[in-house]
Amino acid sequence: MDFDNTERTELSELGEFGLIKHLTQYIEISQESTIKGVGDDGAVINNGDLQTVITTDMLVEGVHFDLTYVPLKHLGYKSVVVNLSDVYAMNAQPRQIVVSIALSSRFSLEAVEELYAGMLLACKKYGIDLVGGDTTSSLSGLVISITAIGAAKKEDIVYRHGALESNLLCVSGDLGAAYMGLQILEREKSVFKENPNLQPDLEGKDYLLERQLKPEARKDVVELLRELGIKPTSMIDISDGLSSEILHLCSQSKVGVELYEEKIPIDPLTFDTAREFNLDPTVCVLSGGEDYELLFTVDLTEYEKIKNSMDITIIGHITNESKGCLMVAKAGTVHELMAQGWNPLQKK
Ligand code: ADP
Ligand code: MG
Repeated sequence: MDFDNTERTELSELGEFGLIKHLTQYIEISQESTIKGVGDDGAVINNGDLQTVITTDMLVEGVHFDLTYVPLKHLGYKSVVVNLSDVYAMNAQPRQIVVSIALSSRFSLEAVEELYAGMLLACKKYGIDLVGGDTTSSLSGLVISITAIGAAKKEDIVYRHGALESNLLCVSGDLGAAYMGLQILEREKSVFKENPNLQPDLEGKDYLLERQLKPEARKDVVELLRELGIKPTSMIDISDGLSSEILHLCSQSKVGVELYEEKIPIDPLTFDTAREFNLDPTVCVLSGGEDYELLFTVDLTEYEKIKNSMDITIIGHITNESKGCLMVAKAGTVHELMAQGWNPLQKK
């Protein structure tokens, strides 16, 4: 890499994934214990009997959250959960987290206590320990960086790259709700800006708001799959929208996919709210984000075991790479899947 050149390339030209690819292309792995470096939901390190999974996520005020409508306790909870979700996506069990925060003088002790109450609540719920971190000051709002450490037996770890032709593509829970929750919060924020005397109209939208403000990681789904005796061939968590996560699985597995729009699980409230906003519910699912559901592939022979699970939906199947990544729409038309996941580097 040449750091002395005088050219200037805008980061928005590469996008988030392009940038990560560019920056990590020269990494050379030298440790024998590094099983998996960049490129999956977590890195995998060999520790003898067990393998360690490690993953990190940073949340920045004004980019990932807006404190005008996100309570600090919820933010603390969510910032832990999004990390645990990546550990579960490797089919591993999270065990510890370290937490780093940057704070400006705007925050009081009571405010930071709230944030920590939320983090500790998540630790308790998922049975993990908060074992360290770092605290520093910030000139521009709150930054939270959390690293989660987990463990799994070598043979249990599931990567993004294992999907095979004719595998079933499955997803847990339902999709798009967190995105619609965000739309509602943003709408009420702009209404409030215009007229601070108006009370926010959040009635009947509890499910969507909860999915946005207090998501859960699908520990239960990882456990269910184990109980059913199913090891997915590949897995990823849905943080950026279904479309971009499917494309990650497919590109890393070197396969194609056929996704069926009519099979995508969408809660009726999500569907109706999308319509209220004049949005296409499917587009909200494909490009929205923050569902923190698990997207995974299983061998066709697992169909019988999976078909009656209320919380797992088969949404498509894996095809040859040459077929591409396609969605069969409700009308029968076929569309190429686009990576419209969020691009935080895009110029506004
Ligand atoms: P996720 O959405 O699962 O959190 P990301 O899209 O953030 O994953 O990251 C994709 C992969 O790139 C991960 O393996 C992550 O560890 C790696 N990665 C992201 N940013 C960097 C960076 N600045 N340097 C090295 N690796 C990175
Ligand atoms: Mg992930």
